[in-house]
Amino acid sequence: MSSTDFHSVRPADSTSLISDLSSGNTTTEQVLDRAQAICASQGAKLTDKRRRILQVVLQSAEPLSAYQIADQYRDLYGKTLSVMSVYRMLNFLKDNELVHRLETTNQYLPCSHISCNHAHEVPQFLICDSCKTVDEVGIRKEILQELSANIEDTGFALARQQLEFRGLCRACQTASTVPA
Ligand SMILES: [Zn+2]
Ligand SMILES: [Zn+2]
Ligand SMILES: [Zn+2]
Repeated sequence: MSSTDFHSVRPADSTSLISDLSSGNTTTEQVLDRAQAICASQGAKLTDKRRRILQVVLQSAEPLSAYQIADQYRDLYGKTLSVMSVYRMLNFLKDNELVHRLETTNQYLPCSHISCNHAHEVPQFLICDSCKTVDEVGIRKEILQELSANIEDTGFALARQQLEFRGLCRACQTASTVPA
């Protein structure tokens, strides 16, 4: 496969955005500026409101529901947005692959690859049941194709193939095996 697939399956890459943000290596502003450039290159406009919604999602350590995003937006900017408009803006961000929606929980999280230059793949998610962090990982196209073929063999018409896996992240596994 191409080098882009290799890049996105590296565990370090999928977590780098979150850890960089918290350690201050990549500022939220830099990621937002990059997001603005991505939108512009696709002929879309990251308006101030959309940018602020993305900022709320970027600054959260956990995926958020649209209601939580509306609450945090109000707390941060002192302005009320209806949940409907939050959903509209989230859809825009999702269409431009700046955020992803977890289908099993209807929560939103920032794309881990906003600052990357490679093409985006069909995202798959590893959700930690303990600390609620989510890793975005790439899965090889052959595996997805085989999975789709298997499913379609049953006569099922597959609409989407986003996979969400639940378990314990590396940090939480370590925490649970260290004696108290
Ligand atoms: Zn992504
Ligand atoms: Zn990447
Ligand atoms: Zn965890």
